[in-house]
Amino acid sequence: MTERLPEAADPRATELAGRLAVVRRRIAAAAAAAGRRDSLPSLIVVTKFHPAADIRRLAALGVTDVGENRDQEAAAKAAELSDCALNWHFVGQLQTKKSRSVVKYATAVHSVDRPQLVDALDRAMAVEMEASRRLPLECFIQVSLEDDAGAHRGGAAPGDVPGLAERIAGASGLRLAGVMAVAPLGAPPGPAFEKLSRISADLAASHPEARGISAGMSQDLEAAVQFGATHLRIGSDILGTRPAVR
Ligand SMILES: *Cc1c(COP(=O)(O)O)cnc(C)c1O
Repeated sequence: MTERLPEAADPRATELAGRLAVVRRRIAAAAAAAGRRDSLPSLIVVTKFHPAADIRRLAALGVTDVGENRDQEAAAKAAELSDCALNWHFVGQLQTKKSRSVVKYATAVHSVDRPQLVDALDRAMAVEMEASRRLPLECFIQVSLEDDAGAHRGGAAPGDVPGLAERIAGASGLRLAGVMAVAPLGAPPGPAFEKLSRISADLAASHPEARGISAGMSQDLEAAVQFGATHLRIGSDILGTRPAVR
């Protein structure tokens, strides 16, 4: 008689469990180094390009928050996984016309970067909140940390944050959660995340409820934790490299 080990049943689940454990240890170590043992950041596992079956495995491993960056893919996965208790975070560039779809599954949008998008999300939420009893949509203002406006990875200019914050705070279907950024390419992440922490402090001075800082990916989570990230968005170090073709 042969014993069936769990890994024989599902090697991918074993692999994900191992990678998740390594990332959780890195987060704990970074938090300890930053004197933040009592305020661990939340982990959002960015599952873009990976199949719904992987998200189901992650949910079984205790993951509660997942991130996606394309509406079509996210909507399909959320529908397929409606039996899993998951919070869906939208982290990619968002066209205003996708707002109606996104608010059907998303708990939070991390990429709010312009007034038209605030208005579209609020209108979509008005419809959604009438149809269901969901909570307001959590909105992070995505800020560009690039020095030159040329090669940039999205986000509002820091000077536009106060205006966007007022607009979100005044929208009944939205809740201002804080700021979000992606570290600039080809530059050390520390100074960028330090800048983000100052932008966050300025925002919290006028909106004390909006203390969230969504920052930190696989490559730079330690620097993000050092500078106060409250939400980490980790993809490849948990799921492996993303399939090139889809
Ligand atoms: C893909 C993505 C991540 C995750 O990046 P990894 O380097 O795979 O950890 C985080 N944030 C955003 C906005 C993303 O698009």
